[in-house]
Formats: sequence, C-alpha cells, structure tokens
Amino acid sequence: MSAAAAARQIITRLHEVMASRMHAQGKLDQVVDIIGESLDSEVCSIYLLRGGMLELFATRGLNQSAVHVTRMAIGEGLTGTIAQNVETLNLAEAKAHPDFLYRPETGEDKFHSFAGVPIVYRERAVGAVCVQHVDPRRYEDIELEALQTTAMVLSEMIANAELVDEGDALELTKGQTGMQNLSGLTLVKGLAAGQAVFHQPRVTIDQVMADDTEAERQRVYRAFDKMREQIDTMTSQAEFGVGGEHEEVLETYKMFAYDEGWSRRINEAIDSGLTAEAAIERVQQHTRMRMREIDDPLLADRMHDLEDLANRLLRIVSGQLGTAATQGLRRETILIARNLGPAELLEYDRRRLKGVILEEGSLTAHVVIVARAMGVPVLGQARGLRGIIREGDDILLDADAALATVRPSQSMADAFDARFAKTREKQAAYAELRDVEPFTRCGTRIQVMINAGLRDDMSSLAMTGADGVGLFRTEFQFLVSATLPQRERQLRLYRDVLEAAGDKPVIFRTVDIGGDKAVPYLSDETSKFDENPAMGWRALRLALEREGLLKAQARALLEAASGKTLYVMFPMVSEPWEFDAAKVVFEEQLAFLKKRKKILPEAIHYGAMLEVPSLAEMLDLLAPKLDFLSIGTNDLTQFLFAADRSNPKLAERYDWLSPAILRFLRRVMQNTVGYDVDLGVCGEMGGRRLEALALMGLGIRRLSITPAAVGPIKELVRKVDLEEISKAMDLWLADPTTDIRASLQEWAQERGIETD
Ligand code: PEP
Ligand code: MG
Repeated sequence: MSAAAAARQIITRLHEVMASRMHAQGKLDQVVDIIGESLDSEVCSIYLLRGGMLELFATRGLNQSAVHVTRMAIGEGLTGTIAQNVETLNLAEAKAHPDFLYRPETGEDKFHSFAGVPIVYRERAVGAVCVQHVDPRRYEDIELEALQTTAMVLSEMIANAELVDEGDALELTKGQTGMQNLSGLTLVKGLAAGQAVFHQPRVTIDQVMADDTEAERQRVYRAFDKMREQIDTMTSQAEFGVGGEHEEVLETYKMFAYDEGWSRRINEAIDSGLTAEAAIERVQQHTRMRMREIDDPLLADRMHDLEDLANRLLRIVSGQLGTAATQGLRRETILIARNLGPAELLEYDRRRLKGVILEEGSLTAHVVIVARAMGVPVLGQARGLRGIIREGDDILLDADAALATVRPSQSMADAFDARFAKTREKQAAYAELRDVEPFTRCGTRIQVMINAGLRDDMSSLAMTGADGVGLFRTEFQFLVSATLPQRERQLRLYRDVLEAAGDKPVIFRTVDIGGDKAVPYLSDETSKFDENPAMGWRALRLALEREGLLKAQARALLEAASGKTLYVMFPMVSEPWEFDAAKVVFEEQLAFLKKRKKILPEAIHYGAMLEVPSLAEMLDLLAPKLDFLSIGTNDLTQFLFAADRSNPKLAERYDWLSPAILRFLRRVMQNTVGYDVDLGVCGEMGGRRLEALALMGLGIRRLSITPAAVGPIKELVRKVDLEEISKAMDLWLADPTTDIRASLQEWAQERGIETD
C-alpha cells in the first residue's frame, strides 16, 4: 500500500470515530486502537495536559489501570520532553535516552522502541501521542507522519472542545505566569525592552480531514499560483528596500516556490484525505523534523527559507493573511519567532522593532546578518520559548548576556532600565563624537574605519563618522545567495557601496569563501576534503584555482570604480607569489577594459591581509609590492595558537593581549619599516579598548572595526598619548612575565581612561 493510501485509511477511520456520537473517552480509546493497529504497534497512548501535568488519557497496550493515574510534569520523562520541546522523538531504545523515566504502573518494561509527537494547540504542546514496540527499531517516516496526522486531528478535537467529557476540564490555554528567564545564544549583541509579538499570528487549522479531496486540491493549486505571483512581484520590484542581498534571498524563495517536489508532497498529503491547510502543515512538520537532523548550518538556513515560504502558503490558503508586520506594530516590540526569513524581518517598522528572540537561528543565518545591519539585538536558540512567552508579555532582552527575562518583576525592570539608560547615555555621547576627528592627545590622527559586508552596513559610515570601510567582506553577498552571484550583480553591489561611501575609501576584500563560510554551490571545492576548513581550500587559494571567479570579481570591481579610486585586498595570502598571481588577474581585466575604451579607475591600490603567520617572514619580498597591509587578527591568532576560532571551547584559550601575539605584531611592524606600506588592523581585536590601546602602543595607526565600536574607540584615541603608551608597551614586552592585560588596565585607570 502506498504511504498516501495508508494515511488515507487511517484518516477515514479517524473521521468515522469523530463523526460518531460517542463520548470523548470512547473516541480516544478508539483512536489509540486505530493507530496501534495501523502502525502494527503494540502500544499507542495519548497524554493530555490537565492540572499542569501530562495525564495518560487513553492507551492500547499499557495497563488500563494506569489511565488517568500516570501523570508527568512538562519536561519529565520522554513524554514530558516531547511536550516541553514541542518536538518529535523517534528512538530504537527508549531506555537509552537520558530523559527516560520508568513508570511501573504502566507495565511498559518489555517495550524497547518509542516514538512520540506533540499535540499542538495554539503553538503550545498540550499533550502527546506515543507508540511503543517490543522490537528495538526506529519508526519509519510514514509511521511518524501518521502519528503527526493523528496529533493534528486531536488538536482539532481540542479546538472543538469535544475531547473531554463534561466536568473534565483540561487546562489547555492557560499560560505561564510570573517572572521567568529564557537563555539562548547571542546572535546580535545589545539590550532591548518591549512587549512580545509573535511573528506568525497562529494560523488556526479548523479542519484537518477533507470532505472533498478534489476541492482541497484546487484550493492548494490556487494558493500556489498566488504565492508564486507574490514572490515574482517581490523579486522584480525588490519591494523590501533597495534590492541587493535581499534580492538574492528572494531568488532562493523563488527556487523553492517552483520546487516540484514540495508541491508533490503536499498533493500526496491531500490524497491521503487531509484538507489543504492540514496537508501544508503536515509537510512542514516533516521538513522541520528533517531540519533538526541536518548538521550543515548553511543548508539548515535554506530549509528555514522553505519554512518561511510554507507559512506564507498556509496563510494564503486559509485566508488568514498577514504576519504581525502587516498588521503593524503598535508598541515597542520584541519579536518572537521560531525563525524568520530576512525579507520578513525587513517588513517590520524599524522604529518599533526593538529586539528579536528566535527559537532557532545561527550566527550565519541570513536573518542575523540583516538584523546586525539593522542594529536590532537578537537572541537565538531560545529553546522552549513557546512554553514561556505569551503574546503581549513584557520582555527584557539582554542579548549581551544571552538572556531574556519574561514578565519581569518591578525591581528587575528598574535595574534593567538603569542599565539601559546608561548604555543609551553612552551611545548618545559617542554619537556626539561623530564629527570629531580622532586625534590623540599628542596630536596624531588615527584612522578609524568600519568593517562591513552588506549594502545596509553602509549607513553606519555616516552614522559613526568613520573614516571609510577598512574591510568590505565581499563574500557576504555570496553567503546570502542561493546561487553564485553573477558579475552583473556584483557590479551593482560594488557600485552602490562606492556611491554610499562618497569620498571615503572602501577596501574591498576579494571573496573569502570556505572555512566557516561555506556556500553550497561551491561545496565540491570546499569542505569535501577539508577536515579543518579554516586551514583548507578557502579564500585566495580557492579564488586562484577557480580563476573565473576571481576574474568576474576583478572586472566587477574595476567597472564599479570607474573614475574613482579602487582599493583591493587579498585574503589569506601565505606566500608572496599568491599576491602576484591575484594582481595579475586584475591587471589582465584592466587591460581588457582599456582595450574596450571603458572608463578605468583613477587609481588602484593593492593590498594584502596578513593573517597567515608565514607571511610575516616574507615581508621583505612582499612589502615593496604593496600599497597597504591589513592584519587580520581573527585568523592570525587562531593560526598562531592553533586554536580554531569557531570552536566555543577554545574561546578562552588565549588572550589577544598575550606577549606572544603582541611580540608577533611588533615584529610585523618592524618588518615593514622602510617600505611605503600603510599598515592597519582589521580583526575584532581592534574594536576592544585595551586591545586597541596596545595596538596603538605598537605603532598601529589604522583600525578597521565593527561599527558599534567606532564611538568607544574614538573616545579612547582622544585620551591617549602615543609616546607614553609605546614606552610602556616596550617595557612590558621586554619582560615576558608581565601580565599585560592587568598592566594596561592599570595604566588606563590611572589616566581616567574607561576600559570595557
Ligand atoms: C580576520 O581574519 O581577522 C579578518 C578580519 O577577516 P575575517 O574575520 O573575515 O576572516
Ligand atoms: Mg580572516
């Protein structure tokens, strides 16, 4: 029997039970029998939430005496875990799971395998349907789908209040009260306060089982047409602002919107007897399940885009149109979502959107890149948020500490307000420094530039009054795109960036793909053979090999800078010949444009990044060829210490202020003396005060840093006397036992210089 036919059979039988005049308990008893029989499973049980506990309401296969006796708290045992995380479990050996809890009254000891799905009502798990089997085997996908369908049917019964007999009230919609903390992962730093608004006002599925399958099919067809139309219009009009990266995300949407596999699966679910809404939801549940198993963060991000689109389809088909964005934000808002597409985030009113909390999300997710550009703090991976947050709850978001406080007490809110006011005060003071040039006390001008990567980042240039873009990470465009960005698209971006920068310089770094910045469409070249991708086939190595890639970028940059000055920087140069080879590619493209009588850049400055330690020993050969050199301390330090920068366990392994790093940097400085090379630092290190102080003490006069750090660093610069700090640095570096961090701290304090 096909999967659809099997599901159809279950649904038909469930339909009959629902339509019968039986009392609620009788219906539940029949449901567990139907599922147990259909899945050939010895046990099928239904748990529902009552009195704050999950109660066994019906079972086939466990002791009947346990019904209405076995009760578990949310989070307790396997069933409690399913409800808490609102997720499916599928285990070959239940006892092997750390949350397994044995309940003797149920007589379940002879069963090995276990699968369970949550019953979800208004985004909250209000129960679970579980099956158990004597054989230790995982359940098949189609079996889990049958369970999920059953869970949907049960939630429909809940909606229609036909699940419990009179007098047996379930506590289904009662939410949590009192202050609660929610922890997660810092995706974009910052503080924010506001009221919880759920991105997706829940599409309530009123009917799971179809009366007329053909009619449902037509509804879904129409919805698909409408959705594709919407996406096409959005792509052509780039209605989310000025196109660019978002345009590329829309391309991804487009790819999914026309994906035959997706519409086929929805059709199959309709064949099995579901309504259009239920079919879309079913397929979405399946996608979510798959997503949890995927380890590749970039692929997972793409899956989120698909989920985004499925929600859109669901809203169209049900006529429940609009996200919270389309309804408009009425107050200062902390937006809550499982995940968001970047385009969806951009639909919100920036004045009222204060922060975002995501149940999922990762540092490389598109939405996070966009939120960072918008300056909106984001807390990600806040598991279980649906059990804690209700629409309209007051929330204090402290993304710096990776924490959100839900329904804060008054004293908590006051303390947060005080902290918040202080940071706002500081920010206002920094904003005042916008037009002040950063001269040191002794009168030296320090260049303070920003690191950027998106078109939207360019607004930070004017906002901070920075001297230019010291590092434009061109690979960001590649990261947010589903396919390799063609030359035309690159050209458009670079042109816009240069236009936004006006007279200020922008240093374009050629693509640094690979490492932790893998893109699926180049996966053959990257990751495949790389056990350690940071030291693998990435950046310039990859670009020189795929010369077409570098050629296209070179031409795009040269054309974008016609009549202007172009700064090009090559990443991960480990030997001088790599710089030469990359420069040749640019010179060839320049010659090509010249032959075609195109307007060329007025001047071209070539630079390299020093982030591979070996290059430090070869500067006598390289420096004469360079216009500028930028030290990438993020990569440099990971290579110096052999400590993977993306491994959180190693985050505390070394200190940027250790003598090893500072002595190394000093040697780089010394090795460039006598050459006409403009030397700067563009790693995160330069955005921290003590570190920036040390760098100035070593002789660095150009820093390129994250835009939020520009104010604090400018303020620091104005309080420093370079001669004093360089003398102090010489002293400390001469004695390797010196605790340089402590010494710098003391030095700064004595001079009334604030440190972080
Ligand atoms: C660096 O490595 O320090 C750097 C600035 O580049 P990225 O962080 O993009 O690797
Ligand atoms: Mg780097």
